[in-house]
Amino acid sequence: MIKDNLSTLLQSIPDSATLVAVSKTKPVASLLEAYEAGQRDFGENKVQEMVDKASVLPQNIRWHMIGHLQRNKVKYIAPFVSLIHSVDSIRLLKEIDKQGQKNARVIDCLLQVRIAKEETKFGLTFESCNEILEHANCANVRVRGLMGMASFTDNQTQIESEFKSLAHYYKQHQEQYKWDILSMGMSGDYPLALSCGSTMIRVGSRIFGARN
Ligand SMILES: *Cc1c(COP(=O)(O)O)cnc(C)c1O
Repeated sequence: MIKDNLSTLLQSIPDSATLVAVSKTKPVASLLEAYEAGQRDFGENKVQEMVDKASVLPQNIRWHMIGHLQRNKVKYIAPFVSLIHSVDSIRLLKEIDKQGQKNARVIDCLLQVRIAKEETKFGLTFESCNEILEHANCANVRVRGLMGMASFTDNQTQIESEFKSLAHYYKQHQEQYKWDILSMGMSGDYPLALSCGSTMIRVGSRIFGARN
């Protein structure tokens, strides 16, 4: 079932796009099933859950932190996390840099931009992105691009305009900062995200089934 969902999904997206299988709340057995079907990129939104799963699953999994990250928890994932999608402040970026240094590695990150009109979503404004990019001087962090979540709505026009605003900002800065990752698109909106220029989609329920 998970295997079939994965292969159907992979057939519908271009080879150039990376699929992050969002496994939050799902048991280790489900992740293993996806792993055995060849999936290597997994997304979690809670530090403890990611640490617990990483400790029992194969070492060559690439772990993506996609949820809001508290500074005091960065140290738990710093040794192994592959990409942090959810950098939403300069203080968080500096803490990731510090933990990168402690672990003698450079940690890949994305700046999370608030593109949804809804109030509840985390993320930076384009202005604060500019500020971070101009002032952050971190040797142990590499900002590889941007992440955004569209509004939870059926209005395709609105979702498209939110994705396009992020893609536009991404393209404006891509060359200067050598960005190569634009993370946008989930189960409900990934085809639209890809058509707007997404290079990385984060899909959960369409692979693993609905969450409780
Ligand atoms: C849960 C989550 C997803 C995946 O959502 P689905 O609708 O299950 O595909 C993607 N991105 C983030 C940031 C999430 O928290």
